[in-house]
Amino acid sequence: MTPDQPAGNLPPFARLRRTRMTGALRSMVRETELSKNDFIYPLFVVPGTKFRKEISSMPGVFQLSVENIVRECADVKALGIPAVILFGIPESKDEVGSGAYDDRGVVQQAVRAIKKEVPELLVITDVCLCEYTSHGHCGIVRDGEIVNDASVELLAREALSHAQAGADMVAPSDMFDGRVAAIRAALDGGGFPNLPIMSYAAKYASGFYGPFREAAESTPKFGDRRSHQMDPGNSDEALREVEQDIREGADIVMVKPATPYLDIVRRVKDRFGMPTAAYNVSGEYSMVKAAERNGWIDGERVMMEMLTGIRRAGADMILTYFAKDAARVLDAQR
Ligand SMILES: [Zn+2]
Repeated sequence: MTPDQPAGNLPPFARLRRTRMTGALRSMVRETELSKNDFIYPLFVVPGTKFRKEISSMPGVFQLSVENIVRECADVKALGIPAVILFGIPESKDEVGSGAYDDRGVVQQAVRAIKKEVPELLVITDVCLCEYTSHGHCGIVRDGEIVNDASVELLAREALSHAQAGADMVAPSDMFDGRVAAIRAALDGGGFPNLPIMSYAAKYASGFYGPFREAAESTPKFGDRRSHQMDPGNSDEALREVEQDIREGADIVMVKPATPYLDIVRRVKDRFGMPTAAYNVSGEYSMVKAAERNGWIDGERVMMEMLTGIRRAGADMILTYFAKDAARVLDAQR
């Protein structure tokens, strides 16, 4: 420190480019680095066998039957990705989403098969009813209203059922009030006091979920999700949502979607210092893939920049359909 450079201040003229002049220097001063250890890969499981169908709006992402999911999980593990999150598309749907908490449900079957064949892979299950209800809503509907408390009871049953099948972590994505506490109580009462909960704590009502609804066949038949998911204009409210989930027992808190809500990721991380996840959702993925196919952007570069941005904003882990592509890029860089 020279006298003309007081602590905390830049000199009148600083040559900030000095540390950018070579690749070696750039890599030494790089503040955020992506790691495969931070990726969680979402998978869609369907009933039956030999089923493998690409989701047209999400190139490279498939609906898979159980034995194909197991094969996919072996690939994911071999690539060095530590975790997957499962979404189920049941054989049949009904008003109360029975398939969600059926011991022989499609997710329960998949969890059992994966934990048998690829035991080291961390298997997270998404806990919600929207893939399982005939009306496509995340809970029970009475007189046109999505009711909270009765839905929460079913979510707790679903989470316990996933735990009994062997899930390593459950992830409630519904955004109903009190669900984390109900799930915690169900898990503790069912003999799973050490099973962690990753809550979708600040989940916004977002247009970026469009391609996912094709993948999960969960588009609501009427209305929308604005009565439980958050309004995109709100940020302070996100902190209240996250705080509530932490009080109720969430071990990891998630912000969803990721890139349009990086300010929320940063505020959540700064305020609570909790393990924080961000869900890089289907629309974020599909936009990059579509623009890449049109030759408008360098898809690989944009993917890595997007994921780095999410980590830089404060996310410790990223749920992303890019996980496999990004893992291959990271391998090639070594
Ligand atoms: Zn839902």
